[in-house]
This record gives sequence, structure tokens and C-alpha cells, in this order.
Amino acid sequence: MEFPSLKSWFEGIENYPFIIAGPCSAESEDQVISIAKFLHSTGKVNIFRAGVWKPRTRPGTFNGVGVKALKWLQRVQEECNLRVAVEVASPRHIEACLKHGIDVLWMGARTVSNPFSVEEISEALRGVDIPVLIKNPLNPDIDLWQGAVERIYAAGVTRIAAVHRGFSPFERTLYRNMPKWEIPIELRQRMQNLPLICDPSHISGRADLVPGISQKALDLTMNGLMIEVHSNPSEALSDSAQQLNFEQFGELMASLVIRRPTIDDQGFLNQLEELRNQIDSIDFQLIELVASRMEISEKMGKYKFKNNVAVLQMERWLEILRTRMEHGTLQALEPAFIERLMTLLHQESIRIQTAILDNLKTKEDPWSEE
Ligand code: PEP
Ligand code: MN
Repeated sequence: MEFPSLKSWFEGIENYPFIIAGPCSAESEDQVISIAKFLHSTGKVNIFRAGVWKPRTRPGTFNGVGVKALKWLQRVQEECNLRVAVEVASPRHIEACLKHGIDVLWMGARTVSNPFSVEEISEALRGVDIPVLIKNPLNPDIDLWQGAVERIYAAGVTRIAAVHRGFSPFERTLYRNMPKWEIPIELRQRMQNLPLICDPSHISGRADLVPGISQKALDLTMNGLMIEVHSNPSEALSDSAQQLNFEQFGELMASLVIRRPTIDDQGFLNQLEELRNQIDSIDFQLIELVASRMEISEKMGKYKFKNNVAVLQMERWLEILRTRMEHGTLQALEPAFIERLMTLLHQESIRIQTAILDNLKTKEDPWSEE
């Protein structure tokens, strides 16, 4: 799959990062126009966003003003010289947006979570040449996210970007949605030139956390940011806590540090090459060590089978965990990291031993191969 870069989506896009900004919801004509005028005046914004139909978790909350806001967005295009993006969740929404000349569509997290909806939307987009932003689904299911990109692409849309907006946590966490950065990174590995945009507003859930998440996204070489901005966040009809006011948006734009993905300096490159060689060597050694550990697990599996002993001995496992975490601490490694690492190794070891047991049970002589 070939995805055009964000720069080639429209004429005149020179800046990095690509910025999409605007209120969570279009609330009134004045609100939309005043925010758009401010955003245009910053010279940093490529696309103005505003939710028109709002997917709300509970009934009885603000559902968006609907079709009439599309006319306000046409004023934004004409008077503020900005392109506009709207969330669509059904063929009816798409039809209304196309009728009003909306420039970019986005699929929200709830919609992407439902393959029926994604399928319907992709059918409605067949033969339509419009950029589509695809948010990650609510749950950390990378296949569902990739599947939505594939479905929209199969309808003939190529101007696609994935939007990382975090994953709904079961428990309360610092962030409204867990970033789980490894998921967008893995998506980029799977779909190499797919543009990636971070939505720090929905990850954070709090205006003061937006700058940190934005910087992290750029440090991970994401291509753009989608940020909620409101003229008066405390009065906003949706997502009040996470929207930036004008001053906060200005400060954020001024504070972002753009780090170069790499540089041409030969000294730097040699040094980097040397460090990479060391990492390569250590990684291969690690894999060989893990293989030796698993060979021993295999022997233990056979030995336990011969003596009719269960695979898992809980005290032994707790002892392993405790001593490894202690040792890790001495090496200045995070105990939580060592715990995750040891759990992974232990699970694989259990899998190997269990497979051996299952396999040997079916044979008359468990040692016949030796
Ligand atoms: C939004 O962008 O306002 C929105 C509803 O986002 P999400 O689909 O990521 O929850
Ligand atoms: Mn929102």
C-alpha cells in the first residue's frame, strides 16, 4: 500500500509538524468563527477541526448541533482561509459533508471499533477523493486499526492518516486514555509510509498534560498533531477539561522542539554506527542466552514428566521473580521492567514444558527419542 505524505495532501503545506486544531465541537457560529480566526492568525494550522455530530458515552449530553454547523465551516474556509475537517460515523454524515465541500473527514475511535460501521463508511467513500483520518479504536487492538485503514484504502482512498488518540483504560489513570506508544510504532512498522498524527488532547484529558504528550509524539517522529482548542474551555459543551485556550495553544506551538530524525555529520554518524553495532551484538547474545535458557526448560519439562511433577511450582517462581528484581535493582534497572521481562521468559518456559508434557503423554516411552 502506498500512502501519499501529508505534505502532498494539499498545495502549500510546508510546515512540520502538520497541525490540525479546533474545538471538540462546533457549538455556535460565533464560537467557530472566533476560534478559526485565532488559529489562522497563528500561521501554524493546516486544518481546522470541529465535531458536528458528537458520539457521546451517555445520553442526555451535548450531541453536536448537526448539519447546520457545516455552513459555519464553509465560512471558515472562505473567511479564515483554512481547510476544515469533520468527524463522520455514517454514510448520511459523509453525504452531508460532501455536499458542503468539507475538505477532510475523520473516523472517531468508537466508529473504528466497529467493523460494520467502517465497512459502511468505506462503501460510501468509494470513488470519492477526500483525505480520511482514522483514529485508533477504543481498545488497544492494532489489527482493528490496521483493518480500518485497509478497508478505507480498498475503497480507493489513498490520502489516509492514522490518528493516535490513546486507548480506553479500565481503571483511572493519569491520562484519560493510555498512550501505549508501542501500538502506533508497530502500525508504522506494518504500514511504512502511512502518515501518523497524534491527538494529545484525547490522550491527556487535561489541558496541562497536552504539551508533554505533544513533544513525546514529535520525538517519536509522528508527522502531525490534532489538538482541541476553544475560546473558553471552561464553558465548552464537550471535553471541557482538555481543550487549550488561545494562550495555551500559542505557548504550545512556541515550545515544541523539533528534533532532527538524523543528520549528515560524519563524526556523529560514525559514533552512532559504533553504538548500533554494540546494540546489535548485545541483542544477538541476548537471543542466544534466551535459547540456552529454553533448552534447559525443555530438559526440565522431560524431567518433571518422568517424575510426574506438575509444570508450575509457585514458590520457585516467586523466588525467581524476587531475586531477579533485586539483582536488576543493583544494575539500576527498573524493578517493574525486570518483572515484565521475567514474566515473559517464564511464560515461554511454561509453554515449552507444557508442550513437552502433552507430547510425551501420547508416547509409550517418553525417552524413546533420546
Ligand atoms: C473528538 O475528536 O472529539 C473525538 C470524539 O475523538 P475520539 O473519537 O478520539 O474519542
Ligand atoms: Mn473531543
